[in-house]
Amino acid sequence: MTDRFDVGIIGGGPAGSTAASYLAGAGLKVLVLEAETFPREHVGESLVPATTPVLAEIGAFEKVEAAGFPKKYGAAWTSADSGPSDKMGFTGLDHDFRAAEIMFNERTQGGVHKDYTFHVDRGKFDQILLEHAESRGATVRQATRVNRVDFSTPTPTLQTTHDGIRTDIPVGMVVDASGRRTQLGSQLRVKQADPVFNQYAIHTWFDNFDRKALAVNKGQADFIFIHFLPVIDTWVWQIPITDTITSIGVVTQRERLKASKDNLEDFFWDTIASRPELHKALKDSEQVRPLKTEGDYSYALSQICGDNFLMVGDAARFVDPIFSSGVSVALNSARIACKDIIAAHEAGDYSKKRFDTYESTLRRGVNNWYEFISIYYRLNILFTAFVQDPRYRLDVLKMLQGDVYDDEEPRALAAMREIVTAVENDPTHLWHPFLGSLQAGSAKAMF
Ligand SMILES: Cc1cc2nc3c(=O)[nH]c(=O)nc-3n(C[C@H](O)[C@H](O)[C@H](O)COP(=O)(O)OP(=O)(O)OC[C@H]3O[C@@H](n4cnc5c(N)ncnc54)[C@H](O)[C@@H]3O)c2cc1C
Repeated sequence: MTDRFDVGIIGGGPAGSTAASYLAGAGLKVLVLEAETFPREHVGESLVPATTPVLAEIGAFEKVEAAGFPKKYGAAWTSADSGPSDKMGFTGLDHDFRAAEIMFNERTQGGVHKDYTFHVDRGKFDQILLEHAESRGATVRQATRVNRVDFSTPTPTLQTTHDGIRTDIPVGMVVDASGRRTQLGSQLRVKQADPVFNQYAIHTWFDNFDRKALAVNKGQADFIFIHFLPVIDTWVWQIPITDTITSIGVVTQRERLKASKDNLEDFFWDTIASRPELHKALKDSEQVRPLKTEGDYSYALSQICGDNFLMVGDAARFVDPIFSSGVSVALNSARIACKDIIAAHEAGDYSKKRFDTYESTLRRGVNNWYEFISIYYRLNILFTAFVQDPRYRLDVLKMLQGDVYDDEEPRALAAMREIVTAVENDPTHLWHPFLGSLQAGSAKAMF
């Protein structure tokens, strides 16, 4: 047995270290237990501006800025120009569907004092945030895994292992920030696989890749790029990591990879070859990391808080990364949860009802993301059309900025849902042939 901490946090990724910064900053005795030794590699390299107010509030923004990560001023989408007979070729319609882009400075966002966010090397970014939490007074133990949380006593006990030695640590409450390992969600059996999204990502880094190769506006080559492929439900990310290193990832449906007999190398290059200009630019550069995969990764949890515990970040919910929402959800879920935790601590009561505001706010925000993503996969030309339509551009941008936690449903979502239904119900609709195969029900149905 060791000293008693007010809050024990499982995981020192962005969600865990942000929660630790808030709680230690408010004077709570906080312990972060991280299974790995930092720096460690991690997927999820492109941020959205909703991270900025959180980084500023915990006092880490300057440290992140000083690290010299590439600045991200906006996002761009490109698609194959494959002719009117091809279902994925976006020709024959009113808008230019081969490319779209937005800049964050087109819309003022509360608490965001910069017109850019960052693309980050997650090894470095996560280490900065974890060290920052320590500098705010949190105790951090790396290479220490939480194997189980014992809830049989009045307050929880973390059962941990470090160097093969088991230690039990009593805490007032537990914050599960263990990412897609969903330590507590798995232990409590409250994790539910998404019925529709079963994606698979294959990704790596390239040196000296020409980021302008597919850019329509060559001045925007350091934006994040989402390249649509003429392969259904499949896309590629292009994210600057340094001046010369670029992260490239293919996201596809699990069954597609299975069909190619799980040969990653062949699958990656064959898929990329569907955009010959991308294939050429990558072949002209140097792959500097082995291919890495992330599989089976969309899920929700039927419960994200209870007596003496709550989950934040990926440990609470994971949705497809097409709009770079993950780190922003990690930081904002920690921000929102910590308000409730601090109030609970002051009241000396960590019971479930204390975390109601957190639960409803997070579910609303992530459900907005989920619905946006579902509509995107169902009819992605609609997204491109909305980005280019002055009536909806700022509403779409609001979501792309990660500004999804206020009360209202984003206006663009309701309008998009209506159009998708109209297109689905009318086989003669000009857009009917463009409907994708992934058909998610309303996010509201999933908790
Ligand atoms: C293919 C793909 C692409 C993505 N692209 C983006 C993107 O461009 N932008 C974006 O914002 N997000 C992206 N994401 C999402 C992003 O990676 C996550 O949302 C983000 O890392 C969540 O942060 P977290 O702190 O919740 O979890 P993590 O960053 O995963 O941190 C969890 C930490 O907990 C530790 N841990 C786990 N179990 C235990 C245990 N039992 N005991 C102790 N420690 C433990 C782990 O070692 C880890 O360090 C992407 C995700 C995927 C899969």
